[in-house]
Amino acid sequence: MKSVLIKLANFVGETGLYRFLCPERLPVFMLHRVMEGKPDLPGALPADTLRAYLEYLAARHYQVLSMDDLWRVLDDGEEIPSKSVMFTIDDGFYDHHDVAATIFEQFGFPLNFFVITDLLDRKLWPWDDQINYALNHSRIRHADIQLPSGEIHSVNLTPGTVRQTAREVRNALKIERQEQIYEWLREELYKKLDVEFPTDIPQEYRPMSWDDARSLRARGHGVYPHTCSHRILSTLSAQEKYLEINESLSRVKSELAYLPDVFAYPTGRLSDYDSSDIEVLKTAGFKMAFNTVSGYVRRGQSRYHLSRFSLPGDKVEFLQIINRFEALNDWRIHHPVLPFSSLPTR
Ligand SMILES: [Zn+2]
Repeated sequence: MKSVLIKLANFVGETGLYRFLCPERLPVFMLHRVMEGKPDLPGALPADTLRAYLEYLAARHYQVLSMDDLWRVLDDGEEIPSKSVMFTIDDGFYDHHDVAATIFEQFGFPLNFFVITDLLDRKLWPWDDQINYALNHSRIRHADIQLPSGEIHSVNLTPGTVRQTAREVRNALKIERQEQIYEWLREELYKKLDVEFPTDIPQEYRPMSWDDARSLRARGHGVYPHTCSHRILSTLSAQEKYLEINESLSRVKSELAYLPDVFAYPTGRLSDYDSSDIEVLKTAGFKMAFNTVSGYVRRGQSRYHLSRFSLPGDKVEFLQIINRFEALNDWRIHHPVLPFSSLPTR
């Protein structure tokens, strides 16, 4: 019943009614992994789904904004075009260059890449993916792991529970001090789960190269830092925060020979960064920063708390966001009787 109502609401959305009712909102999407064929990584978006979304936008003459376009809205107060949208992709994996960029270029649309610089330097692969790898390769059914704080966390790996367990372990680690997280993964998680730590980055988590990044920029896309190590800034000491922000800036700057002045916070919930991080960003010369809190970017809002929607795998939800049906939720706070429902929480 709900899906029928949402489909009907999207049908109305095609007329532009919600864009008229809720103007001046820009949906910025965040992609993660994009795979041709049937994705073998959980949560990856099939390339055909992305193609279908971009085809829809192209056929209806949506503008896909660049970072410069967004800056003109936030700094110069330019209006947000009624039919506009923007895309970002986080972390810097090989498929971002090989698959996602190619698809965007078929439509002449820009894509904005946030890269973990130690990943492109092949010094590490992200801690959250290291958790997935360990859980997917373990044959142990149950283990008690000792978190960096000393707290014991029970890991259940009975068949069918891996995704849920991975989420629980990630969430437990998001509120731990993360200074030593990479050492902790090898010394505690991999040992307790009896998984050999890979000597090289596993194929599925391999990065794009710096040559790829340079090529992306030359082809009109944006490439920006997303810290060196992807550790959550709010869990780090002042000195480590400073290094994560400034070193990642200087790596992108020296490899791409320009000032990449936009940032994305790792994992990006409001609790994952704080005002001291924003001060470091401002001092380093960053003029905008994205989080991962669902919502539209608005003219006149803070440039260091830019919201993004996770790109849905379901077209109905995608339409719900781009036609701004989802923006009626802002309105619903004052009109609780509206029978509309919001997107599922992620
Ligand atoms: Zn990330």
